[in-house]
Amino acid sequence: MTLPRLEIDLAKIQHNARTLIRRLDHRGIAVTGVTKAFLGDAEMAHALVGAGIDTLADARIENIEAMQRAHVPAEFWLVRSPMLSQVDRVVAAADISFNSEADIIAALSAAARRADRCHGIVLMVELGDLREGIMPCDLESLAARVLELPNLSLKGIGTNLGCRSGVTPDDHNMTELSTLAESIEAKFSVSLSIVSGGNSSNLSWGFNAANVRRINDLRLGEAILLGNDPINGKSLAGLYTDAIVLIAEVIEAKTKPSVPWGNLGQKPFANLTTAVDSGDVLQAILAVGQQDVDPAGLSPKLAGIEIVAASSDHLIVNVGNAKIAVGSKLAFEPTYSALLRAMTSPFVAKVMVPIGMHATSHSQVDDAVELLAS
Ligand SMILES: *Cc1c(COP(=O)(O)O)cnc(C)c1O
Repeated sequence: MTLPRLEIDLAKIQHNARTLIRRLDHRGIAVTGVTKAFLGDAEMAHALVGAGIDTLADARIENIEAMQRAHVPAEFWLVRSPMLSQVDRVVAAADISFNSEADIIAALSAAARRADRCHGIVLMVELGDLREGIMPCDLESLAARVLELPNLSLKGIGTNLGCRSGVTPDDHNMTELSTLAESIEAKFSVSLSIVSGGNSSNLSWGFNAANVRRINDLRLGEAILLGNDPINGKSLAGLYTDAIVLIAEVIEAKTKPSVPWGNLGQKPFANLTTAVDSGDVLQAILAVGQQDVDPAGLSPKLAGIEIVAASSDHLIVNVGNAKIAVGSKLAFEPTYSALLRAMTSPFVAKVMVPIGMHATSHSQVDDAVELLAS
């Protein structure tokens, strides 16, 4: 099988999605599945729908178009503001887009009119993370604008925290979003069907809040795919963190000094660890690099392996006492940033472990030691 590759266990991803749906459902919160990390791959999108997700969200219209072409049966949200230059594509492929700019909303209205469609609008509100969003004091006037423009429907409001500045979702900012929803409804006599509280970093709040008030949707990518809570990097109880594993092949394994020699100048990529002189070490090079993955976001499945550096095409690991030889395959769990880059690299194969194959593939992927023997 092609290397390097991402092995994607669809049954584990479905388990993660079902678990999150169940845990949020009795709080009155729906799960929207975020597909951007896997570029709208149809098989993965179908797996999310099969787990009970009705709405899929992506930041890029290309991915939504791909899922539409594959007839994935879901409602599609574009969760990054449309570009002015793409409004016709957005109206054609997405049911709803997330917006924060009056000019783009006006262009969406004109595009929806040309296409003779009704396009849904969710207004994004800035609540402190300083990424996208309307300042709360400007929300009312933009909502009024959406309501008066033809071929648009004001579906709701939303916010995004924890992405640029790491602002944590809490009772304070979530209550503010609920209050804003209620005041828009009262002011314009409308009802907002979507109050979307945020992304995977909202989960601890969503599970634990005494009252979630009007928040009825979370947009989840990382938690479903990697089983992680991005707020603290810890795994979420009951979820698989190894649904997706990167496997790469050793192309050199040699005993070498642990520190370089010669005059040291600049180097293109920072080391991942500080070199300490521990005498000779067994160093292995894997055929995968910065172009394919974020090396700082890889955790070796096999204990005792330490990633020390990476260049464009080489990942360098100290392997301790492990029996590693040329041709050995090593498995790594990726963080979200490592996953994004690997999914996007044309050099990394994506291999789906189909639902029903769970037992067999589990031992293949899970047991790095077995991989070494192969
Ligand atoms: C990427 C993204 C998400 C999903 O974030 P995760 O941390 O992967 O759950 C949700 N909302 C918006 C606006 C996004 O861009």
